[in-house]
Amino acid sequence: MAIDLVLRRDWNARPPHGDYTQLDSTKGVKVHYTGGRVDPGIVSDHDGCAALVRSIQADHMDGNGWIDIAYTYVACPHRKVFEGRGPHRLPAANGAGLNTGHYAVLGLVGNAGLVQPTDEILHAILDAVEHLRDKGGAGKEIKGHRDGYDTDCPGEPLYAWVRRGAPRPGTA
Ligand SMILES: [Zn+2]
Ligand SMILES: [Zn+2]
Repeated sequence: MAIDLVLRRDWNARPPHGDYTQLDSTKGVKVHYTGGRVDPGIVSDHDGCAALVRSIQADHMDGNGWIDIAYTYVACPHRKVFEGRGPHRLPAANGAGLNTGHYAVLGLVGNAGLVQPTDEILHAILDAVEHLRDKGGAGKEIKGHRDGYDTDCPGEPLYAWVRRGAPRPGTA
C-alpha cells in the first residue's frame, strides 16, 4: 500500500523559520513517541491528530526555538503520515550530533493516555520508513531514540517492537 501522506498545507503547518540543512542519505530511521499524554480520542478523530501535530510544531518552534517541527514524519492511528521536514532534510529530534545519522519518525503515542501503538500506527511508521528508503536515501536501520541518547523515548511498547525488528503487524 502506498504511503498516505498528509501534506503540510493539509495540516496547516507553519512555514519553517529558516533554511533546512540538506542530507544526502542516512543509516536509517529512529522511532519516537511524544513523551507526554496523548488523548486516546484521536483514534476515532483524525482532526485530533492534526491538532496534536500542530501543537507539537508550535512547541518546537516557539518553545525550543527550532526552525520547524523536529520530525521527518509523524505516523497517526489512521495509517496516515504527516509531512514534517521530509526527506533530504536534517531532523532535530535525535539529539545533538545524532541527526545526520537517522531520519526521525514520530508515532502518535505517549507515556499516558494512548500508550500502546495501534497496528495502523505501526503500519504508518513503516510506510514512512519505506518512503524514506525510496525517496530519502535512508539505509536499513530502524532504531529507537534511546539508542545512542539518554531518554525513555520511544517508550516501552514502541521500543519492544523496534527490538523485534519492527515487523509489519500480522506478519510476525
Ligand atoms: Zn524521541
Ligand atoms: Zn489520524
